[in-house]
Formats: sequence, C-alpha cells, structure tokens
Amino acid sequence: MTIPRTVAFSRNSANVFFHILTRCNLKCRHCYINPEQHGQGTLPLAAIQAWLAAFSENSHTKNLIFLGGEPTLHPELPAAIRFARRMGFGSITVDTNGYLFHDILEKVTPAEVDTFSFSLDGATRAANDRIRGQGAFETCVAGIGKAVSKGFNTSLIYTVSSANLDELDKMPALLGDLGVGRFFIQIIGLRGKSAGQEAGTSPLGQLQVARSKWLETVPRVARMIAESGIPVTYPRVFLDPVEKFECAGLVAHNYFIFPNGRVYRCPLCEDFPIHSLAFEENRLVTSARLNESDFFQLSIPEGCVMNRLIQPHNLSYREDGTPAYKIACCLLKEEVKPASQVRPVD
Ligand code: SF4
Ligand code: SF4
Repeated sequence: MTIPRTVAFSRNSANVFFHILTRCNLKCRHCYINPEQHGQGTLPLAAIQAWLAAFSENSHTKNLIFLGGEPTLHPELPAAIRFARRMGFGSITVDTNGYLFHDILEKVTPAEVDTFSFSLDGATRAANDRIRGQGAFETCVAGIGKAVSKGFNTSLIYTVSSANLDELDKMPALLGDLGVGRFFIQIIGLRGKSAGQEAGTSPLGQLQVARSKWLETVPRVARMIAESGIPVTYPRVFLDPVEKFECAGLVAHNYFIFPNGRVYRCPLCEDFPIHSLAFEENRLVTSARLNESDFFQLSIPEGCVMNRLIQPHNLSYREDGTPAYKIACCLLKEEVKPASQVRPVD
C-alpha cells in the first residue's frame, strides 16, 4: 500500500533555482514570471558562472535547477550545465516547457543532466493548450518521448488550479504512456499573471482551488499514480490547527535567483522587491531591511505569513475567530512512493 509521507525540510542540503532568463516562447495563463520584478534580460554565460561559483561552497549538497522563462532558449545552457557539473553540484535539473530549443538533447548527455523536468497542465490537448497555448501539449509529449529515448531521466510537473483540477484523474493513464520517472503536482500560487487573474480579469476566473476539492482529489490521484510505479510529490498546503508549522525561510536553504540579480528565499515573495539577497557586480550581498527575512520571523495562527498577505481567500475561520486550519509553507511536500520503493521500517 502507498502512504503519503510529509518530507521534512532538509537542513543539510540546499536547492538553487536559477532563472537564467525570463524570456519564453509560451504565454501560459498562470505564468509566475513577472518581468517588472524579475527583469527581461538574458544572463551572459560569464555571469551565470560567477553566480554559480558564489553558490559552489559545499556544492555537492546543493541541487541546481535551471529555469526561465524557457531555459533552453539560452544558447549557452549546455556550457552552463557543464560548468555546474565541474563545480560539483549534487544534482542538475533543467525545467522545460518541452520545446527543447537549440537541440539541447543533442548537446548534453544523461551524465551531465540528472533530470529534464517537463510541464503539462492538462491530460488532454484541449485542456492543456487552453492554459499553455496551442500546440504545447503535442510538443511537450514529443519532447518527453525524445528525452526518454535518449536515456535521460524525466519528470513531469502539473500545476493544479480550478481550471484543470478535473483533468488530474486522467493523468495516471497518460503517465503510463509517457515513461516519465517522477510526477510533481504543484498548486497555483497567486504570483505573476495569476495574481491579476484572481482579481477577476481573466476568462479563467478564480484560479485557487478550494480545500475540500484539493483534499478529495490530489492525495487520491497521487496514490493511484504511485501504485502504478511512479513516485509523486505534491505540496502539503493545509495543516490541522494543532500541527507544527515551519517556515522554510527560517529552517531550510532555498534560493530563487533571477536575471536582474535578485535572490529570494521564498517563492511567494517574488512579486515584491523584498528579496533578502542580491548579486551586485557578481557578488552575493545581503539586501537592506526590511526584506522577506523579516516576514519569516512573524508567527501567526494562520501559518504562512505571505499566504495571509497575498492570497487570504484560501483561509477559513471558525465562529470564535480562530483559523479552521493553517496554511503550510508552500515548500513543504508530501511524497508517495510506489510500494517497491518503500523501505521497511526496522
Ligand atoms: S512555459 Fe513557464 S515561463 Fe513560459 S510562459 Fe509557461 S509558465 Fe511562463
Ligand atoms: S511560503 Fe510562507 S512559510 Fe514558506 S518560506 Fe515563504 S513565508 Fe515562509
């Protein structure tokens, strides 16, 4: 039997999410990239190398994820990957929308890239392309097939919103055909374009998913997929009022780097100029207070402070005014492994 397990924040390793450009060929309706806050530049290779070098201490304990925009649009991504490999990063992932520009699969090897992580937001062409744009489904599925046939490890990310929650039930069948090694479910966060959409300016309407719908759908589908042999990770999102809350900004090591030099510790802060670190002339420096690290310190009964500030619609209160549940840190994950991968407890 497959049982979800909350994955504790790791104190001994770090995740470096490196947006090497913000440009993208797609215009997904929920895109979290915010050019006003993240810049529109493409980082030159020399800057990528200098910034990676700044994170290279104990790099074997650091997971590096190349992101964009669409990172394969960067013509020097293969050189950046090889530099990171030489620096000794523990794992290297490339997150892609599947278009795989500049023949990236011909220019790197499975020994250089640990995982190509693809994104689909629907199990069918119609549902996915409504969100990600015409042709995105077919191109992504073809890209996954090509990566798998070349021996790369692959994973798939599905961002759940009210626009595609119903499609999740169709994912187990699709995943069986695709051959990906791991499935990640994300939840829509009100950042970038989706912040405006939540305000009602989008034909998609309100995007956030009600707690009851999340709880009745996501853990069940994750279990089905794990039972078919594919490990699944999804955000915990909701905690009981008595459960312990922790902010990853205080206890874990996550860095979200943007091409304009901003470095955040919390993804929910990325729409605001409250980054706690920044690259200035290729040196990593601490930002002036007030910044996101001041928010991490605040303890409120609702759990995550940034959630309370930017997406309070997902909270609910009892008659006595106390929260009915807490919102977990968006970086807290549940993992469901296939039975064959679960080690027996001693
Ligand atoms: S593929 Fe990613 S970066 Fe590009 S528009 Fe979609 S969400 Fe944004
Ligand atoms: S999402 Fe909330 S709990 Fe997590 S790092 Fe950000 S502020 Fe902290």
